[in-house]
Amino acid sequence: MHGCVRAGKRYNMREGIHPDYKECKVTCACGNSFVTKSINSEMRLDVCSACHPFFTGQQKFINRGGRVEKFKNKYNL
Ligand SMILES: [Zn+2]
Repeated sequence: MHGCVRAGKRYNMREGIHPDYKECKVTCACGNSFVTKSINSEMRLDVCSACHPFFTGQQKFINRGGRVEKFKNKYNL
């Protein structure tokens, strides 16, 4: 009897200390993939940091910095 109770407690404790997180391969629609920790072993994304409009848009914005000055001059900003 006692042995069974102890085994059950030990099992619960181990579950609490080690949540079911494992290596998760994330694949994006753009072809980019990376590994993270998740309860799923595989995930699919529509956007990631490599193709998200916020990041790609920001890069274009920086690359075309000259246009901002033209825009400002045109509208007297
Ligand atoms: Zn992506």
